[in-house]
Amino acid sequence: MTEITQLIGEQSPLNGMQSYFGVLQKLASHSYIFAADLKTKRVMVSDNFMTDFNFPSRVVDDFDERLASLIYPDDIERYEKSVGKLFIKDEGDDDFDFEYRICRPNGEFNWSVIKGALIEDENGEATIWVGMLLPMDVRFGADKVTGLLGRDEFAKAIGRELKSSPDASGAVIIIGLDNFNVITESYGHGFGDIALRQIAQNITDVLPPDFPLYKLDGYTFGLFMPYAMPEEIEIIFSSIQLCMREIRNVDDTIYCTASAGAALYPTDAADDVTLMRYAEVALEIARQKGRDQISFFSKETYDRWRYDIGMQNLMQNCIAKGCEDFFLCYQPQVDAKDGRLIGAEALLRWYDRDGSVVAPMQFIPMLEKSRMIIPVGHWIIENAVATAKRWQKYMPDFQMSINISLYQLEEHMFFPFVEDCLARHEIDPSTITFELTESHNVYDWEFVNQQFKNFHDLGIKIAMDDFGTGYASLGFLKNFKCNLIKIDRVFIQDVLKSEFDRNLVKYTIKLCHSIGTEVCIEGVEEEKAYIFLRDECNADYIQGFFFGYPEMEEVFVRRFKK
Ligand code: C2E
Ligand code: CA
Ligand code: CA
Repeated sequence: MTEITQLIGEQSPLNGMQSYFGVLQKLASHSYIFAADLKTKRVMVSDNFMTDFNFPSRVVDDFDERLASLIYPDDIERYEKSVGKLFIKDEGDDDFDFEYRICRPNGEFNWSVIKGALIEDENGEATIWVGMLLPMDVRFGADKVTGLLGRDEFAKAIGRELKSSPDASGAVIIIGLDNFNVITESYGHGFGDIALRQIAQNITDVLPPDFPLYKLDGYTFGLFMPYAMPEEIEIIFSSIQLCMREIRNVDDTIYCTASAGAALYPTDAADDVTLMRYAEVALEIARQKGRDQISFFSKETYDRWRYDIGMQNLMQNCIAKGCEDFFLCYQPQVDAKDGRLIGAEALLRWYDRDGSVVAPMQFIPMLEKSRMIIPVGHWIIENAVATAKRWQKYMPDFQMSINISLYQLEEHMFFPFVEDCLARHEIDPSTITFELTESHNVYDWEFVNQQFKNFHDLGIKIAMDDFGTGYASLGFLKNFKCNLIKIDRVFIQDVLKSEFDRNLVKYTIKLCHSIGTEVCIEGVEEEKAYIFLRDECNADYIQGFFFGYPEMEEVFVRRFKK
């Protein structure tokens, strides 16, 4: 009787198997083989198993305890949950995760997979379980850079939890690094990987131990938190924000923040696919709100977001078809002294599918964000200039004001386009005013300044729109020489009621005149306001409902025929 036979017992079906161990071990090098006698629970292990994991002999009675003692503490719970399943025939492998960090002979914890199969005797009774422990370089399905599990495993983990506790609540969170591509672009991908690994580690360190972090596509991470309430999620997100800040300190030049989106179950959705999508939508909204924050999914924001996306598609189609659903309205601008018509401002409108007219505030911000304002802007200028040219037959010095967003001004082909457009229509450039509607911070002042100068030299007038709000301020006036400023209508709204507002408007006009800039007052709705602006403020031009609403071309043209 061999020593092994003595240990496993003469009746054990494991008898004779030891000769296969050596062969198996050769076929799958670096793997560890073991076989369990299901009756006696005795387990026979391969030679390398015994030596590498310090087993006292090739046959042990306490295999489960020994293996469990090698598992990384964070993985123990998962191990215990899944290990029972290892021994059940036909248990769907996909539903379980048999990967754990195991303490390797060198003392390090490495990801290893444990797989196995049952062997039946001639009566169909399972007698042996043969298993294999296979160490991996990185975990299967894991991201090469961070070592974290990926999207599929994230979805599976959510699905598993929802299936096992259908009545529980919790959250699916997607964290996105803001502007991380700037880091890889500036410092190279090698450094990007180091930073990404460090960020993943820092986030993992601030998470409670039973909430693993997943690495999803691009620079996003997934976090799945059973039972978490919004307040706890916010606290955890704050600590994630803090640990991102630590990254900046590694090197002063590195600046990276994170945004996050959270979807709650069962309130928002009750399946993994929808929850992940909603968390992504919430992340997108957090980014749109200015990044470095968390946003919780809400039906209303989702509907608005979908409306915007739908609108974006419609506009894209509309642009592809030559802007056919856009049209321009014209609002009269008058000389403040006598109310005489001097020109008009062209205002964009859009026909929705149901034929209703959509106001620009509903779509201009989206056109700007997506840069679709560039082709639409060309269409606006082309049409407004053509209209001005037609109307100059009735009124040779008719002035046309056209809204231009900074995005258009920053585009390099903009000036040549305008130059060519004016030449084609044979129009006097001094009858055209560009109203600069400020909507974002200027990155390249030098270029924008040069554009201003080009337009000045061409003879086009520049107006600063919405003066007093947002970026259109005194600072702007100091940097740029404009021909005209348009005082925003919020300052006119209460001009009759508020002495403060009256003084504000009066002295702003005085200030502008002192630097040689003319002033147009917007939003004049009442005669009394007009009289005040004319007599006490010395305003140059007026635009407001008191003198006319924005009108379709056919309606506006009647003004000339009176
Ligand atoms: P804005 O350039 O300040 O245009 C004036 C807005 O004030 C217009 O709204 C006009 O209808 C409204 N308005 C004029 N007088 C009065 C008044 O007496 N009372 C009141 N309550 N409102 C008055 P609209 O047409 O909805 O345009 C809103 C904004 O959309 C514009 O503000 C402008 O920033 C932007 N926009 C419009 N057309 C274009 C365009 O062609 N290109 C670009 N980039 N932006 C445009
Ligand atoms: Ca304007
Ligand atoms: Ca304005």
